[in-house]
Amino acid sequence: MGVSVVKELEKLTTTELSVWVEQAKIQAKDGRVIDRIPQLAKAYPGWFAVHICCESGKSISFGDTACIFPLMSVIKTFSLLYLLEHFGAETVFGWVGVEPSDAPFNSLEQLVSDRGYPRNSMINSGAITLADKLPGKDATQRTLLFCQWLNQLAGCQLWLDEVMLASVRLTRSTANEAIANYLTETGYLENLETALDTYEQICCISGRVEDLALLGKLLACENRYLSSQNRRIVNAVMSICGLYEASAEFAIRIGLPMKSGVGGGLIAIVPSEGAIACYSPGLDNIGNPLAGLVFVEALAQELQLSIFG
Ligand code: GLN
Repeated sequence: MGVSVVKELEKLTTTELSVWVEQAKIQAKDGRVIDRIPQLAKAYPGWFAVHICCESGKSISFGDTACIFPLMSVIKTFSLLYLLEHFGAETVFGWVGVEPSDAPFNSLEQLVSDRGYPRNSMINSGAITLADKLPGKDATQRTLLFCQWLNQLAGCQLWLDEVMLASVRLTRSTANEAIANYLTETGYLENLETALDTYEQICCISGRVEDLALLGKLLACENRYLSSQNRRIVNAVMSICGLYEASAEFAIRIGLPMKSGVGGGLIAIVPSEGAIACYSPGLDNIGNPLAGLVFVEALAQELQLSIFG
C-alpha cells in the first residue's frame, strides 16, 4: 500500500493538478482575505498555488507559484520543532500542552479556563509562550537565528517581510495583547514585550509556496539532522490541533497532519512520502484557507493519502 501511494504522489501530472485546482477555486469562491492586517488585506482571494515535494526530490507545482506570503500561524509548527530540537520534549511540554481546543485560535477564555497553561502550541497563547523561549537576545536576533536554521535545514529561502511586519505592528492584535498579559500574570511568560515582538516577527517570515513545501518535507521524510521522535511529535500535534477547532473534522475528511495560517498558507504532511503546500488567501470563518483545504481533500481522497488507512 505504502509503496503504491509513493508512486501515485510522484506520478501526479500538472494536468491532474490543474483540474483539482479549478474545482477547488469554484468551491472556495466565498473565501475571505483577512482584513485585520492591512498589508494582508491586499491579497486577491482568488489566488491559488500548490507545490508538492516528494521524498525522491521530485516536485510538482501549479498556479500562482510566484506569490510571496507571510507564514503567519504555519510558523507555529516549526517553532515547536525548533524548540523540541533545542530543549527536548520534557522542557517544551512544561511550557505548553498538546490538547486540542475547540475555541478560536486567539481565545483568551480558553487560556483563562486552563489557568494560563496554553493548551497547545498551534494556538496563539501557545505560540506566544514558545516565542518567549526562542534562543537569542532579542526578537530580531531570535527571528534571524530561527529563519537561518529553517533555510539551512530545508534548503528554502524564507526571509522576514519588514513591510508586513510594520503593518502587523501598526494594528497589533488586542486579543494577542490580552493573552500575553494573562500569560505574564500567571508566570508563563518571562518577557511580555520580547515574546509578542518575536511572535509578530516570526509570523511575518515569508516565502513562496515552494518554500513552504520544502519546510513540510522536513516533517514528512527522514532527515539526518532532525530527531524522528520530534518529527512524530510535531506531526501528531498538527493532526490534533493544526486547523484549530476544525482539526477533528479534517482528520476525518483528509487524515493528514496539517497546519494553516491566516496569510493563506497551508501544509499537509504525507509521512514518508512528501509534503503538499498550498497558498490560497481566501479564508473560511475559522481562519483556515478555504481553497487549499478543498484541494487537499480532493487529492487525499483520490490518492488515498489518509494516514488512517
Ligand atoms: N499573527 C496572526 C495572529 O496572531 C496569526 C494567526 C494565524 O495565522 N491564525 O492573529
